[in-house]
Amino acid sequence: MEADSLYLTVVTPPLPTWERGGCVLVGDAAHALQPSSGQGASMALEDCEALALLLRHYLPEPPKIGLAKAAKKYFDMRRPRLDMVLRRAQQFSRMK
Ligand SMILES: Cc1cc2nc3c(=O)[nH]c(=O)nc-3n(C[C@H](O)[C@H](O)[C@H](O)COP(=O)(O)OP(=O)(O)OC[C@H]3O[C@@H](n4cnc5c(N)ncnc54)[C@H](O)[C@@H]3O)c2cc1C
Repeated sequence: MEADSLYLTVVTPPLPTWERGGCVLVGDAAHALQPSSGQGASMALEDCEALALLLRHYLPEPPKIGLAKAAKKYFDMRRPRLDMVLRRAQQFSRMK
């Protein structure tokens, strides 16, 4: 939570996983950024595209196994990019 402006900004702390029990988080539910980053909607759309492509790839396998594999790959692919965007958002946030 950042309180350096008039209004509090709540961001998601880094989560250890975005999947549990067959439920997969995308967008702000997984990683809410500072609004000032201007990247939240783009990141949510990228998540959806990545997860859809991975589900298409892995779901010929039995659903529970395919979903778990797709979700793990999705997290492993997306987390580094989100970390980079988050770092840049924090820099821009301070500049603004
Ligand atoms: C002030 C502000 C400015 C921003 N400016 C930008 C910007 O310039 N550029 C940018 O890219 N991003 C910006 N963002 C961030 C962007 O809005 C979000 O990152 C993006 O909307 C995330 O999309 P989402 O689908 O993950 O979540 P959301 O858009 O929050 O969608 C979640 C939806 O789920 C619904 N919901 C919640 N709980 C339930 C429930 N129990 N049952 C049913 N429905 C439920 C909610 O009503 C909502 O419609 C800004 C955010 C804020 C707050």
